[in-house]
Amino acid sequence: MKYDNDNRKFNKDTLRYWKIQEKHIMRSEDTKTLLRELSYIKDLILKTDEPLSKHTSFQLGGNADYFCVVQNLEQLKRLFNICSQKYNTFILGNGTNILFSDEGYRGVVIKLSGEFKKIEVLSEVIRAGSSVSLASLLKNALTNELSGLEFAWGIPGTLGGSIIGNAGAFGSEICNLMKNLKICDFKGEIYEILPEKIDFGYRYCKLPINGLILEADLLLRKSSGGRIENKMKKNIEWRKKHQPLKAKTAGCIFKNPGYVSAAKLIESVGLKGKVINGARFSPKHANFIENFNNAKSRDVYELIQLAKETVYKKFGIVLETEINLVGF
Ligand SMILES: Cc1cc2nc3c(=O)[nH]c(=O)nc-3n(C[C@H](O)[C@H](O)[C@H](O)COP(=O)(O)OP(=O)(O)OC[C@H]3O[C@@H](n4cnc5c(N)ncnc54)[C@H](O)[C@@H]3O)c2cc1C
Repeated sequence: MKYDNDNRKFNKDTLRYWKIQEKHIMRSEDTKTLLRELSYIKDLILKTDEPLSKHTSFQLGGNADYFCVVQNLEQLKRLFNICSQKYNTFILGNGTNILFSDEGYRGVVIKLSGEFKKIEVLSEVIRAGSSVSLASLLKNALTNELSGLEFAWGIPGTLGGSIIGNAGAFGSEICNLMKNLKICDFKGEIYEILPEKIDFGYRYCKLPINGLILEADLLLRKSSGGRIENKMKKNIEWRKKHQPLKAKTAGCIFKNPGYVSAAKLIESVGLKGKVINGARFSPKHANFIENFNNAKSRDVYELIQLAKETVYKKFGIVLETEINLVGF
């Protein structure tokens, strides 16, 4: 078994992470050049050493070298032009499905705002920028008496993040509403993509082109405001009853492996409520991990590893994470 400087065990993923990091470690002259180039992008909001804990629902994660809030397509293209060949880049939505490591992110984290928050209603189609929150989208659908999105009431992500993870609940998924997708690749080329060209699965989406989602058209159907509101209320009541909505979490940690729920498996191996330092498997829903007392990302990661190992030993089932682990 190998150990890193902090005496942590290496597994395949951490080894891969360190290899990526080595490739992209910035020399001080790179940093200066990058800073100078980024500062030429008009009105770009640029922060250095930005704590990722401020941008994630877990409220965990070390610092990002660079954190850019992009307001429009022009800025985005310039940013890609500067970064995509030389530096790591990461697109962040609302950070509600992510665990960044305590070491943070060596590179540029990009968050979309400004024109990427636009919503337009065209008859039964809602066209929305990828950084629109699902909550705003739903409020808009309700005002326009458009039904189909009610399942997403209570999912705290953005439209972009929900497409990448094919977010779903109560038997529905975002992919069922997709009509069209606009993507920008890392060279700044724009593509319109029809849903049949996208490989969607359970909490999974593979785009035919590697890039960033700019906006999407969702096809809804006319209904009555009362009916839509009732469904939304029912769904949020269910969530309040079954999920730790007030805790710092990232939703379900693991995908359900087929016929059995991950929560049931975690309970069966006695890990519901299990604590490692400031993190614990939620006493309310075993497939949620809560940062309940100044946890470190590493505490969450160790709980994840523990559940994987214990469930595999007892049932021979491999749990796959639903959340994105970055830097482990
Ligand atoms: C209390 C709670 C309940 C939840 N319930 C559910 C649920 O019922 N169902 C469900 O599916 N999920 C649920 N989630 C998880 C999460 O909210 C969803 O997965 C959400 O869609 C993630 O969106 P985000 O904007 O936060 O994405 P982030 O966490 O910021 O990012 C997720 C991934 O998407 C990528 N990404 C984000 N934006 C873009 C973009 N514009 N272009 C390309 N890539 C992008 C990121 O790089 C990352 O890989 C829950 C989370 C919480 C905290």
